[in-house]
Amino acid sequence: MTVSHWQETAAERARVSHDVVVVGAGLVGSYMAGLLSERDKDAAVVERQYAASGASGRNAGMVLLGMRDSYAETAERFGRGTALEIWRMTDANVRRMRELSRRHGVEHEDIGTYYFGGSRESDDDLRRSASLLERDGFASQFLERDPLERGFGAALRQPDDFAVHPAQLTQALAYSCGASMYENEEVFAIESRGASVEIRTRRRIIECEKVMLAVNGYAGLVDPFFLPYVAPARGQVLLTKPAPKLLDVMCMNYRQCYYRQLPDGRLLVGGGRWQHVEQERAWGDETTDNVQGYIASFIRRHFPEAASAGVSRRWAGIHGMTEDGLPILGMLPHKPNVYFCVGFTGHGNSMGLVAGERAVEMMLDGADPGVLSVERMA
Ligand SMILES: Cc1cc2nc3c(=O)[nH]c(=O)nc-3n(C[C@H](O)[C@H](O)[C@H](O)COP(=O)(O)OP(=O)(O)OC[C@H]3O[C@@H](n4cnc5c(N)ncnc54)[C@H](O)[C@@H]3O)c2cc1C
Repeated sequence: MTVSHWQETAAERARVSHDVVVVGAGLVGSYMAGLLSERDKDAAVVERQYAASGASGRNAGMVLLGMRDSYAETAERFGRGTALEIWRMTDANVRRMRELSRRHGVEHEDIGTYYFGGSRESDDDLRRSASLLERDGFASQFLERDPLERGFGAALRQPDDFAVHPAQLTQALAYSCGASMYENEEVFAIESRGASVEIRTRRRIIECEKVMLAVNGYAGLVDPFFLPYVAPARGQVLLTKPAPKLLDVMCMNYRQCYYRQLPDGRLLVGGGRWQHVEQERAWGDETTDNVQGYIASFIRRHFPEAASAGVSRRWAGIHGMTEDGLPILGMLPHKPNVYFCVGFTGHGNSMGLVAGERAVEMMLDGADPGVLSVERMA
């Protein structure tokens, strides 16, 4: 957001200093703040609203092996070796998410996922992916027919995926991370000053050695550097009222909807973005009639029992999309000591923690983030 001269000069600001400032208290920023504290850094997290107010508190809570593209598509794009590396990262991430959920007493369910294709081309892609996954030792199973008998086609099962309460997990990480937490403070200026960096918020001027931007879909609003690399994309969700038991698994229907039934019977369904891509390239989190209508018709067609239960809530959140579906890690070329870890393309629960670990090692140790480096965009 831009800030006027009047807003900037209306009040005195407190001056504080920290070793490192993380901007954004989503899953990724909160986890990185904990890693910084473990390495004895005096860290602060600055969040414009509150922990989990962004996508981390609005997502479907699906913690999945893999990223946006299928394993077969990823192998075609990056090569077999890199695809394997990416999948191993997400496998480690799923385990870490489960471990942290258990440690913090966060609600979660070990229920696995079905990916549905729906066309001959996407069924073939699932079949090829299943065979590569099996060859590379990942738990998966290809089923020729819809195991749910809901009018879908072939399915790929990933038994080790799980569902989590995403806002509970993010807030547990944020409030136990050991860093100072400044909530309701939007960062509106970041300036490199020789060896240090100055951050300005409404209430504070913070001097620090290094900054880590963990603002995902909002990256383009924080610095125009990100505009060509991270596109905002609104994701919408519809939650029904409690319905009879329909599902004991999470589901993803290719370019249509993703869904799971919560323990109290509510059916959570998100998606419908592919049908309105231009409209949904947005930073506002309002819901729209056309996307909500698409989701509602998907529910009526495949889960009429849930459609007749009625709607209990609708909401939206902002994704940060990259062209190749992987996050980007690096340092701003025009602002030394300002690093970033953004662009999770709808899969922060699959990759956020492991990417956060690489980002902290990049910032503190000069480690190369490998395939996640922004340099691949060049
Ligand atoms: C509807 C929906 C469903 C999804 N479902 C899934 C799913 O099932 N599985 C999955 O893996 N992923 C899912 N995702 C994606 C997932 O939510 C994200 O990838 C993940 O939450 C990214 O975490 P983050 O911490 O990087 O970003 P965020 O959680 O968005 O956090 C960024 C934070 O930065 C703050 N911020 C922004 N600008 C500033 C500023 N100037 N100053 C201070 N703070 C600022 C924001 O307020 C926000 O809290 C979904 C996303 C949406 C929207």
